[in-house]
Amino acid sequence: MISKKSSPIQKNKEIIIIGAGWSGLACAVTLAQHGHKICILESANQAGGRARGVSFKHFLNKQVLDNGQHIMLGAYHETLSLFKHLNIKKNHIFERQHLNFNLYSPTHSQIQLKSPILPAPLHLLAAFISMQGLAFSERLKIIKMTLRLAVTQYKLKQDMSVSNLLQQYSQSSITISVLWEPLCLATMNTPIETASAQVFLNVLKDSFSRKRADSDLLFFRQDLSSTFSSPAIDYILHHGGEIQYREKALKLRRDTEHSFFVETSQTQYNCKTIVIATPPHITDKLLVHFASNDIASEQNILKPQGASLSYQYEAICTIYLQYPVDTRLPYRMVGLFDSIAQWAIDRSVANQPGLIAVIISGPGKHQKMSHQQLAEAVHKELSFCLPDLPELINFHVIRVKRATFSCRVNIEQQRPENDTHIDGLFLAGDYTNTHYPATLEGAIRSGKAAAEKIIEANNNRSFTL
Ligand SMILES: Cc1cc2nc3c(=O)[nH]c(=O)nc-3n(C[C@H](O)[C@H](O)[C@H](O)COP(=O)(O)OP(=O)(O)OC[C@H]3O[C@@H](n4cnc5c(N)ncnc54)[C@H](O)[C@@H]3O)c2cc1C
Repeated sequence: MISKKSSPIQKNKEIIIIGAGWSGLACAVTLAQHGHKICILESANQAGGRARGVSFKHFLNKQVLDNGQHIMLGAYHETLSLFKHLNIKKNHIFERQHLNFNLYSPTHSQIQLKSPILPAPLHLLAAFISMQGLAFSERLKIIKMTLRLAVTQYKLKQDMSVSNLLQQYSQSSITISVLWEPLCLATMNTPIETASAQVFLNVLKDSFSRKRADSDLLFFRQDLSSTFSSPAIDYILHHGGEIQYREKALKLRRDTEHSFFVETSQTQYNCKTIVIATPPHITDKLLVHFASNDIASEQNILKPQGASLSYQYEAICTIYLQYPVDTRLPYRMVGLFDSIAQWAIDRSVANQPGLIAVIISGPGKHQKMSHQQLAEAVHKELSFCLPDLPELINFHVIRVKRATFSCRVNIEQQRPENDTHIDGLFLAGDYTNTHYPATLEGAIRSGKAAAEKIIEANNNRSFTL
């Protein structure tokens, strides 16, 4: 008997967003707020993308952890304002700490940077002057650099690597390894030798030069899905939107002059407006289908000229270490240098006492180690800051290979705008032209900006009609 092939379901939508990461969700919330009916197609069985809560069968009794330990800065204004709009209570979801770094190593005395209660940027200058563990001459060079950068408005005539910038400002190797390198890796997830100095300065300017609270560190009190994805989805559904899980966009092309065709594994959709909110390597693949059916090449789709979706990526590894529940780090977050581990965060902040999340950004020798070897190595290193560290009970390692795009020199010239040369086709994602590295703030900025472009385009269209 010949089986009858069932024809795929066809659906018409006003606006489709492909991808429910933080950028796609931010775009959806902003559009929903302005009365648009949106439909999100998400390939996974949950929203949140790279910033989501997950639970593991054999670790922590299936308690929810994050796909990788995240923190935020007080300078993430767009994220904080979206949280406010969603009625997410800051005090409920964050522990806020003033700028306060404590770094440990087996070979060097403890480094401490603590900002006093002064307005910005005086709080920072005072923190550098009183920094413990660095010679006075080194601290003076840091202050000189900070002042000279402020005079230039943190703007370079030409981009260069962070290590070249530091050389130009005569920063010594010890200052680099205890201050600038950890800061660069934490904010850009890119080694100083290749990282874009201009993007680094954009982050420093936002965090250090305006308000003291901008340099605060914000630690999540709950997992990332409960923090943002769930309230964002509730808001979207409440405003007449929808989200379809396990709906992987496979093909995308222009249908008629004013509509698009999206094919997923199960359904065919038509829509007037489409936002691709996937990471660049996936966006690239989706646009290839689009381009082959429509116009010659990517260059004809992306704005501005020279924009491209060919990115390199950096990994992030999070090692969750479980100790007896009364184990505490000396500070909420500690830094480690001359070590494999870079930062450690005490998860008692998220009501997970005894759990420590160790973060390793970018490449390094940890990439060649097994999970077991890595957990043992970072466990040993934690004793630099906790000499009475008890026996490790359990551990879980999460390695994300394409955690962020590599934020390299001249990256700003290749980052695409949110709108494209195709009417009705928009992009969102941390890699677009936000002037920020791959961060939650970058993703939120991008999602909101894409939504604003859509609203503007629709207003212009109705004005012309
Ligand atoms: C381990 C780790 C630690 C990090 N730490 C920090 C931190 O401390 N602070 C910080 O600010 N940032 C941090 N980041 C970066 C931050 O998580 C990202 O910048 C941000 O989440 C990116 O959001 P996005 O929406 O641009 O992309 P994504 O989160 O990648 O979202 C894309 C979405 O598209 C979906 N998708 C993909 N293909 C398809 C398809 N064909 N059809 C439908 N859906 C599809 C995906 O499933 C995903 O949900 C970290 C990232 C990682 C991985």
